[in-house]
Amino acid sequence: MKQDRAIRTAKDLVSAGLLGADRLGDAEAVAKRYAIAVTPDMAGLIDRADPNDPIARQFVPDIAELSTTPEERADPIGDLSHSPVEGIVHRYPDRVLLKAVHVCPVYCRFCFRREMVGPEGLGTLAPEAMDAAIGYITNHPEIWEVILTGGDPLVLSARRLEEMMVRLKDIPHVKIVRFHSRVPVVEPQRVDDKLIAALKASGKTTYVALHANHPRELTPAARAAAGRLVDAGVVMLSQSVLLRGINDDPDVLAELMRGFVEMRVKPYYLHHPDLAPGTAHFRLSIAEGQALVKSLRGRVSGLCQPTYVLDIPGGYGKAPIAASNVEATGEDTYKVSDWQGGVHAYPPTGSYETP
Ligand code: SF4
Repeated sequence: MKQDRAIRTAKDLVSAGLLGADRLGDAEAVAKRYAIAVTPDMAGLIDRADPNDPIARQFVPDIAELSTTPEERADPIGDLSHSPVEGIVHRYPDRVLLKAVHVCPVYCRFCFRREMVGPEGLGTLAPEAMDAAIGYITNHPEIWEVILTGGDPLVLSARRLEEMMVRLKDIPHVKIVRFHSRVPVVEPQRVDDKLIAALKASGKTTYVALHANHPRELTPAARAAAGRLVDAGVVMLSQSVLLRGINDDPDVLAELMRGFVEMRVKPYYLHHPDLAPGTAHFRLSIAEGQALVKSLRGRVSGLCQPTYVLDIPGGYGKAPIAASNVEATGEDTYKVSDWQGGVHAYPPTGSYETP
């Protein structure tokens, strides 16, 4: 039976059959530090009989979250060191993050901002702080794109979103407004006409970057929600995190990327997991990630290829980290490998051979 509201406590996870009673104490210990939320749509997707269910693994707490490793950091990607005013992160010249809200419809166990989000986190930006953030964007003509993230900006009411868009509409140098959200997947019914209208403003192009990590998240309801956004003229991109035990499998990744493309959501980023506290059990090595990304090349359409990126710890920005297919062999001569592992000289020496 579908829950009628989000599960927010360890006890409710047990009552819903999502957690064995023997793990209640562990989950309560984790919940003291990191928030829990599982929406009815996500709870309904979990296979209770599968102890390794990839949806459960994303949202049901695990005692491993209380073990931190020396390289993990509360602010792994250096948001704080690039925050000139509250709510703004200005890491690259032409774009800023606007963190309007620090609440999410679900709390992902691997979240890179897990020390900042949650009902007891930083909440919603106060009106004065929002004024200062908008003032900062107004006074920096180099800002071409504003990225609303947090938290999940689509938890805000249509009225709040519209107010924000109206203020951004009046800033002529801002051309692109991008929302990063999990809502179309985890709470698809929230994406109604009113919310979609609130995301649009004349003179601005609206993008929504959809966060999903496993093809089972792309339910008919999620596909319909994305369809409503795209039909309304919103451009959609995907972002996923490469996660051990969830999508570290070539078939799963291929199905996820194909699912996005079928939904008219262009695969954008595949993130190497950040060094967030208590997330070592989700991390794989970069070499494992490179092998997985390589497996997509050739095997699935070019439309389905995301960029595999690492957010360099400390706030140095994103770096593409897929293995290179090209190696210099001399002055403007190279070895280039194809998707099946064949190696070719460029420019070719001798006659061309076609496969
Ligand atoms: S939706 Fe995003 S910000 Fe919120 S918990 Fe998940 S990863 Fe973190």
